[in-house]
Amino acid sequence: MKKGRYGSYGGQYASETLMFALNELETAYRTAQNDPLFIEEYKRFLREYAGRPSLLYHAERMSKDLGFTVLLKREDLNHTGAHKINNVLGQALLAVRMGKKRLIAETGAGQHGVATATAAAYLGLSCDVYMGLEDMRRQSLNVYRMELLGAQVHAVTDGTATLKDATSEALREWSRRVSDTFYVIGSVVGPHPYPEIVRDFQRVIGDEIRNETLDRYHRLPTALVACVGGGSNAMGTFYPFIADQEVRLIASEAAGRGMDTSTHAASISGGSVGVFHGMKSIFLQDDEGQIAPVYSISAGLDYPGIGPEHAYLNEIGRAEYFPVTDDEAVDAFEYLSRIEGIIPAIESSHAVALLIKLKEQFGTDDLVVITISGRGDKDVEAIGQYRGRLKAGGTSNEA
Ligand SMILES: *Cc1c(COP(=O)(O)O)cnc(C)c1O
Repeated sequence: MKKGRYGSYGGQYASETLMFALNELETAYRTAQNDPLFIEEYKRFLREYAGRPSLLYHAERMSKDLGFTVLLKREDLNHTGAHKINNVLGQALLAVRMGKKRLIAETGAGQHGVATATAAAYLGLSCDVYMGLEDMRRQSLNVYRMELLGAQVHAVTDGTATLKDATSEALREWSRRVSDTFYVIGSVVGPHPYPEIVRDFQRVIGDEIRNETLDRYHRLPTALVACVGGGSNAMGTFYPFIADQEVRLIASEAAGRGMDTSTHAASISGGSVGVFHGMKSIFLQDDEGQIAPVYSISAGLDYPGIGPEHAYLNEIGRAEYFPVTDDEAVDAFEYLSRIEGIIPAIESSHAVALLIKLKEQFGTDDLVVITISGRGDKDVEAIGQYRGRLKAGGTSNEA
């Protein structure tokens, strides 16, 4: 396959200044990924700071309820409460190796911004985060959290003042100040080599699943299930299993208020091929190729595209992508809370909901792993409001 291409997807659609930065990044990454000292240091960060390996938990009551064995890969137990830390620690370490003193990132809901600010604090780097003004209003707690961690948050007022505009601004800022700045991308998206770098830093999820299922069950799982925004937790889960044709790779996309509405974020189910943010992939766009507004109850899933390697895995039929609505995800959020005492992120709840929808396809001998990409504490208030149990501001409706 050509450099940075997954079938016809991926590539490097970038200005000349950015091409310089991307080439510098790729050269640094190639030597780092073959340097045992770099790998050892990265693994030490994961162990000592992120708290890895994460548990592969046998969900017994859920297994009994569904009729087959369900294991939960507990990325929610990582430091900062999600899988994003795996990637930002790797990229921050790469920044240090390249002599860059400053991290920049874009963020939508604030989760990737918080993770990047955390890694910057851990390694003593400065950090600037670009965030749409509209998102800053909606996620003021995360803005303060980033500031607490020592980052500066810059309001982006262009366009719709949301994630895609923040991403464009972060790319512009990178091309203005390549010399001391490292751009930390939060998912398996963007121009080459980012989709590959992020996948490599997230594959620890799948590697741990593989080793542990072989160890404990002396076999590979029947299926892996994960939610997809840009696709990093799913890619990290799937990647070590791509050659194992007997393992089903199943992903949930955010169908928001439904695929028959225009309020969703399901790129593969409802999108088409395009070029945006430096890559060729599948995007939600209008007839003129303008990126469409996206919606999901889950702020972490409302990106208008998907990583190029997912677009390819979908095209060749190796991985399967299904839409899951807000309603289905909220039901699953409550279900996992009650049946296992684990409150999943609303993003991860999409994966739980999908397995419940597909349960008839599995039987007693099956072993299915769901990646719980993050914890749900951040979502409790919003779900309480969705159910009419809480008013905005967090007080109960009941006297
Ligand atoms: C950001 C986020 C996602 C979506 O990102 P991917 O790159 O698709 O993994 C999913 N779950 C949680 C908890 C997140 O914070």
